[in-house]
Amino acid sequence: MPSEKVLGQGTMEKIGSTDAIFKFGTATFSMEEILFIKDHDHGLRKMVDILTDPDKGIVERAGDIHAVGHRVVHGGNLFSGPTLVDQKVKDDIRDLFTLAPLHNPHNWAGIELAGNIFEGAVQVAVFDTAFHQTMPSRAKRYALPNALFLEHTIQAYGFHGISHKYVSGLAVEYLDKATSKVISVHLGNGCSMTAVVNGQSMDHSLGFTPANGLIMGTRSGDIDHSIIFHLVHNLGYALKEVEDLLLRESGMFGLTGFNDLRDVEAAAAKGDEECLLALEMNAYRIKKYIGAYAAAMNGLDAIVFTAGIGENSSTLRKLVCDRMEYLGIILDADKNVQKSIGIHEINTLSSPVKILVVPTNEELEIARQAFGLVKGDQVS
Ligand code: ADP
Repeated sequence: MPSEKVLGQGTMEKIGSTDAIFKFGTATFSMEEILFIKDHDHGLRKMVDILTDPDKGIVERAGDIHAVGHRVVHGGNLFSGPTLVDQKVKDDIRDLFTLAPLHNPHNWAGIELAGNIFEGAVQVAVFDTAFHQTMPSRAKRYALPNALFLEHTIQAYGFHGISHKYVSGLAVEYLDKATSKVISVHLGNGCSMTAVVNGQSMDHSLGFTPANGLIMGTRSGDIDHSIIFHLVHNLGYALKEVEDLLLRESGMFGLTGFNDLRDVEAAAAKGDEECLLALEMNAYRIKKYIGAYAAAMNGLDAIVFTAGIGENSSTLRKLVCDRMEYLGIILDADKNVQKSIGIHEINTLSSPVKILVVPTNEELEIARQAFGLVKGDQVS
């Protein structure tokens, strides 16, 4: 930074298993290894080993790193921007474990480990909830007794904010208009949509926790909450079982047995009825949110598709954009299936609304925010 040049990039997937996937690459070197990675500490240390390798690495020693940016999913109402990590910030992130049990404990562990490994570097927490702090009360409040909001801060917080901020920012630049109304559709393992007016989040499909809204890999998204009471009172479920059911056993996985959309699409292509219906349901939910947000913003200039599914699944994009002419959304079937790099339009020339595919880059957004916070101090 600030040139935003990527010197090296790596991922460590399936941590905790004997077939973890370790990938690393630079301009001159790339590798992929399947190996046993015991835990996050082990994984991060392997990454540092290669970062500092005299032949393949990009820095001489871990001490050469000035700042480490961390994605932290839930910042509650405590954090509205990137934040330098100190003990108090770590404690606050820990206090928020209950609100994002699938995410915050891992984010916290990453901060702890990086603090030990990159001694001397500042740690910056970049929160997924921060972008949504601009949501007006009418969007973020639930119609529950006021005391629950006032005393226990029960409200919608919104998530995937790093991605939504990044891709909607690029869309706003691309539109090059004085004012803009954009719907950003992030479809990965977790899925969410944001209504973005003039670059600011105005409404969002995930709520108090990253659970409601769209149909996700293993999460149900919106359901009638009475189902929870029915499961507990009449079907003998314990609350923990209901939680597991809704967060880990539902969504595309619950409907089809697959949580990877590629598997669902492959089975649907062979005529599997459950998979065909699951794709239709998934797209239908997104359509309804597009309608809701176009109404909430009183207009629409662009829809942005991003993340693993949004960027790659022409099938789902087609199902979503089909029969949306009333709202000015007209997909170009050929452009939709063409492979392109970077931001690109997949609408027809006559479509009043632009349909954009924008590759997300959460790492770059985190680097920008972290650098913005520390520049002039630690980074020279
Ligand atoms: P995360 O939310 O974990 O960051 P990603 O943004 O990487 O997730 O998205 C993961 C999802 O993207 C998976 O469900 C995967 O099936 C889907 N995906 C990746 N490539 C494709 C593809 N070519 N076609 C359809 N779905 C894809």
